[in-house]
Amino acid sequence: MASGEQFRIWCVTESAFVFEYKSTVPTQCPNDAGHTIDSALTVHVDDKTRIQIMNEAFDGATSPAQADRMIDALNKRPSVIAFLDNHNYVEAEKQILAAKDAGDLLQEDYDLIMGKFPTGWNN
Ligand SMILES: [Zn+2]
Repeated sequence: MASGEQFRIWCVTESAFVFEYKSTVPTQCPNDAGHTIDSALTVHVDDKTRIQIMNEAFDGATSPAQADRMIDALNKRPSVIAFLDNHNYVEAEKQILAAKDAGDLLQEDYDLIMGKFPTGWNN
């Protein structure tokens, strides 16, 4: 089992995201130190998956109506799922915020979903 925290790095040389467990923010591609990375795109992630996030949010719903609202709002915005799958929590949050602004989610729904994002998602 790898230790440390997981980081997602954009390797320019490979044109791909690569993942590495480290105790500090990586400054090189873990596949080859000679590769060029775009450090601006390095993000800290953890092992929480989109399915975990969604299950926890739906388990936290205090009424069937709240669960229905969240399902409807997410069905209207499939990009939320794609962003979460890609550990792109910043963009996922923007889409969830847009759903709230459009009236598809209430503040309590927004708070519930955002509360299930992994710790440190916006670092
Ligand atoms: Zn690389």
